[in-house]
Amino acid sequence: PVAAEADYLNDLNPAQREAVEALDGPVLMLAGAGTGKTKALVARIIHLVRQSKAYPNQILAVTFTNKAAREMKTRILGQLGEAAEGMAWMGTFHSLSVKILRRHAELVGLKSSFTILDTDDQLRLLKQLIAAANIDEKRWPARLLAGLIDGWKNRAWTPDRVPASEASAYNNRGTELYEAYQDRLKTLNAVDFGDILLHCVTIFQRHRDVLEDWQRRFRYILVDEYQDTNVAQYLWLRLLAQAHHNICCVGDDDQSIYGWRGAEVGNILRFEADFPGAVVVRLEQNYRSTPHILAAASGVIKGNANRLGKTLWTEETKGEKVRLIGHWDGEEEARWVGEQIEDLQRGRLGHDLSLEDMAILVRASHQMRAFEDRFLTIGLPYRVIGGPRFYERQEIRDAMAYFRLAVSPGDDLAFERVYNLPKRGLGEKAFATINQVARAAEVSLLDGARECLAHGQVSGKGGAALRTFVESIDRWNWFVLNRDNPELVAPLEAEIASLKDLNFSHLEEDDRAEAERERARRLSPLQFRLGLLTSHIALAEAILEESGYTDMWVQDKTPEAPGRLENLKELVKALEQFENLTGFLEHVSLIMENESEEQTEKVSIMTLHAAKGLEFPAVFLPGWEEGLFPSQRSMDESGQKGLEEERRLAYVGITRAEELCTISFASNRRVYGQWQSQLPSRFIDELPADHVDVLSAPSLHNSYGMGGGNSFDARVAKADVYNSPGWRRLQNSQQTRGVSAPREASHLTIDAQAVTGYGIGERVFHQKFGYGNIVAMEGDKLEIDFEHSGLKNIVARWVIPAHQ
Ligand code: ATP
Ligand code: MG
Repeated sequence: PVAAEADYLNDLNPAQREAVEALDGPVLMLAGAGTGKTKALVARIIHLVRQSKAYPNQILAVTFTNKAAREMKTRILGQLGEAAEGMAWMGTFHSLSVKILRRHAELVGLKSSFTILDTDDQLRLLKQLIAAANIDEKRWPARLLAGLIDGWKNRAWTPDRVPASEASAYNNRGTELYEAYQDRLKTLNAVDFGDILLHCVTIFQRHRDVLEDWQRRFRYILVDEYQDTNVAQYLWLRLLAQAHHNICCVGDDDQSIYGWRGAEVGNILRFEADFPGAVVVRLEQNYRSTPHILAAASGVIKGNANRLGKTLWTEETKGEKVRLIGHWDGEEEARWVGEQIEDLQRGRLGHDLSLEDMAILVRASHQMRAFEDRFLTIGLPYRVIGGPRFYERQEIRDAMAYFRLAVSPGDDLAFERVYNLPKRGLGEKAFATINQVARAAEVSLLDGARECLAHGQVSGKGGAALRTFVESIDRWNWFVLNRDNPELVAPLEAEIASLKDLNFSHLEEDDRAEAERERARRLSPLQFRLGLLTSHIALAEAILEESGYTDMWVQDKTPEAPGRLENLKELVKALEQFENLTGFLEHVSLIMENESEEQTEKVSIMTLHAAKGLEFPAVFLPGWEEGLFPSQRSMDESGQKGLEEERRLAYVGITRAEELCTISFASNRRVYGQWQSQLPSRFIDELPADHVDVLSAPSLHNSYGMGGGNSFDARVAKADVYNSPGWRRLQNSQQTRGVSAPREASHLTIDAQAVTGYGIGERVFHQKFGYGNIVAMEGDKLEIDFEHSGLKNIVARWVIPAHQ
């Protein structure tokens, strides 16, 4: 029917139509964000069916996520109706490959009922093999080997094809163990994640007839997000398309963000060489974002050297500039974003949006915690896309189990979770014994363990480990019970004070130095103990240290380990908002209860990686700080290449926004209770000033009841945020271009150096010297009389008011 046909074709611009209507032969759509690549891909599928070029089940469509496949299906359903149900081959590389592999499993020595191992199973298996090969797993962790094998599989290297250059991997034993691992998987009739594609490729390469069958079936192949395919996926596609060449790939070299997982942007660049005569369509009109958002994104991505380079334009003329705001710290940032979301929802900022229209995109998942906590506090519904919510993560649950044991030693679930984590040589047998004893006596597992120790039921090395574990829990619990107990605190403080009062000035220089050292030696354990008695944060850190839990991840050499350690630091940071461990644990259990998936509107939180291909009217991009974004780790590991991939991530982030894009940074983050000052991200400097609105810090509007112009926040803003190099550059460039900066901010920049906002006699806190009073000031320098360290000259930005 002509009328309906018009629907999906008339929606397209001429370039898109060209890509849709070039039905046969290879087509490459290489175009920037929001230019309608995915839309054209969907139209092409509809067109193929409408033109009777293929039945729905003869079309192979590859998407980057299962969610994207579902969305595509819905859109096709709207056009094709029932016929769309026949779209059996739409999905991710993995889901499609599993289906193919089930049919030919025997060709790679498997039965079609093969199981797919998860990461834990995979590691357990590797550990067995490592032990059998007499390798010390402590020095050569199984996770390291797992990462290597994954990388090889991404490159489509079966054990016999791993090149000689890799021979030294895993202490020269990598390839040997890879082979043993593959054999073992076969015996178990199992595959791991990476095998699924690799086996398909192997089958296609070795069994011509099978390949030809599939080539005949899939008359047309379409691939979205082609810039992020790895070698194995590329081979898979090329083999399937070899006969008919009816392959249409769409992508954007500027959005290649999975290099760290083996994706090769080169695949998209050599498409024309692989498929001669390809129709190459470039789309330049963007339909998603306002001109300011587009200009900001283009300004940032310009900094990358190796790119094809594209111009993007839009017919849209209206729209707000990208908003940029600096905050004192991460908590304030989360608070501000929460308020903005509520304002937007109520239509207060000139946009009519629902929570579904808004997203917060972070660089690293540990950044989600501050937002989740804040939203929970104000009752703002949210969902985390593409991963567990913060408090559901494995390492967080483990750490929480330790805290629960410290607060309530009878918590059996917590005991069971961590009694052998990290490994203490307490196997399942020991646990069964403890469990039996505890059940028989109707006591907690911890008391059961005491019984077992008393009667020698768990003995030897395991017994010693169990004793230490039980004693640790008792000790932590004692500190919880004696929190701030004056009878314990006062004598300790007195002892510390008297040690500090000792005067060594009459001693000879050498003796004096020795006496000072001795004093420090004696002070240190006293101060540590005082910390445990007076601060739940100090106690929490001690628990994670003494249990060996932190160390377990420090020793772990896998790619995920650093992220887990960051999450643990973030967990300790979360404690600061609570009076004690109990209050914190209640807060978290509340979060867990609120999990019900009722049909309310929610704001989305996700990583930049998970946001690919998506769009939202309002996007918040927090944490644009050096080291966090661009991520220090990716720069350390991959240098300039890493930085360019980070910049592409920034581009992906900005281009998700339709109407409102807000970038923010904090000038301080707390790590393990220590202040760390942050520099604004270099990507902020790269934003073209003409397209950016610099907002003044919220506190300057006095919106949190913190007092007027001389308030705490105003001081902070003057001393830190507005005085950072990146910020100043931005301000200057705005002023020279004749764009008026917000009044408060420019005013502050001028007098920031002269005025600190502090007053003589005011009490302040310094992270190294502790509390003290200001006795004199000059410019931004303060002379402070610290309670424990005496007089010091300190620049104002390094202290905070003591009431914080
Ligand atoms: P990304 O690179 O981020 O994946 P994309 O190129 O795939 O982006 P789409 O998601 O297909 O872009 O389209 C972006 C937005 O523009 C969508 O909301 C889509 O409906 C709209 N759009 C695309 N083409 C047109 C068009 N010709 N007319 C009107 N709107 C369009
Ligand atoms: Mg897309």
